[in-house]
Amino acid sequence: MSNESLANLLKEERRFAPPAALAAQANVTAEAYERARADRLGFWAAQARRLTWHTEPTETLDWSNPPFAKWFADGKLNVAYNCVDRHVENGLGDRVALHFEGEPGDTRSITYAELQREVSKAANALTELGVQAGDRVAIYLPMIPEAVVSMLACARIGAPHSLVFGGFSADALATRIQDADARVVITADGGYRRGKPSALKPAVDEALTRPGTENVRSVLVVRRTGQEDVAWTEGRDVWWHDLVERQSDRHTPEAFDAEHPLFILYTSGTTGKPKGILHTTGGYLTQVSYTHHAVFDLKPESDVFWCTADVGWVTGHSYIVYGPLSNGATEVLYEGTPDTPHRGRWWEIVQKYGVTILYTAPTAIRAAMKWGDDIPAKFDLSSLRVLGSVGEPINPEAWVWYREHIGAGTTPVVDTWWQTETGGIMISPLPGVTETKPGSAQVPLPGIAATVVDDDANEVPDGAGGYLVLTEPWPSMLRTIWNDDQRFLDTYWSRFEGRYFAGDGAKKDEDGDIWLLGRVDDVMLVSGHNISTTEVESALVSHPKVAEAAVVGATDPQTTQAICAFVILRGEAELGEEESAALVEELRAHVGKQLGPIAKPKRVLPVAELPKTRSGKIMRRLLRDVAENRTLGDVTTLTDSSVMELIQAKLPAAPGED
Ligand code: ATP
Ligand code: MG
Repeated sequence: MSNESLANLLKEERRFAPPAALAAQANVTAEAYERARADRLGFWAAQARRLTWHTEPTETLDWSNPPFAKWFADGKLNVAYNCVDRHVENGLGDRVALHFEGEPGDTRSITYAELQREVSKAANALTELGVQAGDRVAIYLPMIPEAVVSMLACARIGAPHSLVFGGFSADALATRIQDADARVVITADGGYRRGKPSALKPAVDEALTRPGTENVRSVLVVRRTGQEDVAWTEGRDVWWHDLVERQSDRHTPEAFDAEHPLFILYTSGTTGKPKGILHTTGGYLTQVSYTHHAVFDLKPESDVFWCTADVGWVTGHSYIVYGPLSNGATEVLYEGTPDTPHRGRWWEIVQKYGVTILYTAPTAIRAAMKWGDDIPAKFDLSSLRVLGSVGEPINPEAWVWYREHIGAGTTPVVDTWWQTETGGIMISPLPGVTETKPGSAQVPLPGIAATVVDDDANEVPDGAGGYLVLTEPWPSMLRTIWNDDQRFLDTYWSRFEGRYFAGDGAKKDEDGDIWLLGRVDDVMLVSGHNISTTEVESALVSHPKVAEAAVVGATDPQTTQAICAFVILRGEAELGEEESAALVEELRAHVGKQLGPIAKPKRVLPVAELPKTRSGKIMRRLLRDVAENRTLGDVTTLTDSSVMELIQAKLPAAPGED
């Protein structure tokens, strides 16, 4: 990425100091950075002692065969024991682990003692189905307690799980079952989505007719919606309430090697075919436990934590299940969508449970911004003390809105950068330490080494941009791509010798803080300048009429690529043709003023929706296809394919000129 074009971009100057009260009591202080810098491996060895090991590790990192890492390799532990049993043994059996809130409004609070019994029963049930350590179990469930119980039951018996988000189709499910060669599928009759039951079992039945899924012996089905027409394959399908409920609620956890596989999880597919990312046991649990403690400043006795992600994404694995439960947290688990039955549902849940820490995604924050400030204002959100963001770059305006309207203008916001591949948070402010900057993930956490390099792998100076790389192995790193070591090497380790290439563009500001600039595949080349999609999008979102923006570079004979922007306007107002044309000009001028004439979009198209992955991320590659009149690429990870038709219908309109 050329430096001159970045110099005039991102002029964000707002700064927010940590609240004094939080800083005074913070779990982690500035000293941790020093300690980790002085002895990185010693630092992680100390964090591993957060866990209860059956056999304490004596080795920290084995990096003798890079990039295949082994962490704490001679240690043994059981993940479920660490997330559940040990809290009960420590006298915390009556503490609520999960406050479940179903979309229709049904609720269930599960203590650690109950969770221990549920997980034990499920572990016994899987064992009865013949599942052994090492066998893969696919989990295709809505956001109900049984999803958490199933994951922990698999971990307890050493059977790696592979979660498939409940919104995926039979095709997507089938390819994931095939790739992992799963032996059992855990599913439900359905779940509640936007006020209605939405069936899941038919997708499993269909997926299991595909070649390559023959090794699935059993399908364990939770009754959630009570739909009447559930098709049944005798000898294969079994109801959860028949099998699990009759099991003993005692189960002795077995200790597994620290490098025993814990789960396979497919990336969200923003850039193309999803990759089956493999995570293992000891290093993963160490890092998710530490980062959850450090980044969210969790006080397990008093906090109520809520991560709004689905358990089907890595954020749900690391910050609904393994991080919070290993730390003995009390948390909220919500089944449904933010706007069912009304657009204040999330804020109502915060008020109801006294949520103190909220972790969500920019897409949700931008939706709330679009729906209007008056909605959260109707609820008491004063319990909140830390706010987090993950999944995409957060535009400074959305960040400030989040702090202002959800966090009462005082609550720190932590923008956390990480990936399915990294397993845990890597770059983030610490709420009691860092003076935050809206839109920046800022600093690698203690024990994490990241930097920004240019095309020739040289570290860029402060104030310049390039590619984000991780320069030292970390405990929760992916160990490989399932069944494809070569793709693992090619994708992450071949671009820059000896360094992990994250695939994201980034910039270091004058203080050396890191700003994520979006995926490298999305960077635009305009008249010899590299321009990041994130920066143009943030400039658009800083206009009071824009709630959300997606920017792509479309091939252009004069400028190599021309910037094409798709924007969602705030509020519900439908614009007339003339008003719309005037606004388009206003937005182009606004970006030109903020970022310089080179970054001024050639075209600006107001749209009602943007194409997103099922995890809510904008899929720019599809917008690029549209802008260049190509047939669309892989759309299987798209939430709603009709969105693309609506956008395509708008597009052949007259291109703007400059
Ligand atoms: P695929 O790898 O299949 O294209 P994906 O990259 O969307 O899918 P995830 O692992 O869910 O799959 O997402 C990780 C990516 O999300 C990061 O590489 C980065 O592009 C983006 N991301 C996550 N958190 C942040 C953040 N705080 N700031 C900027 N970008 C972020
Ligand atoms: Mg990725």
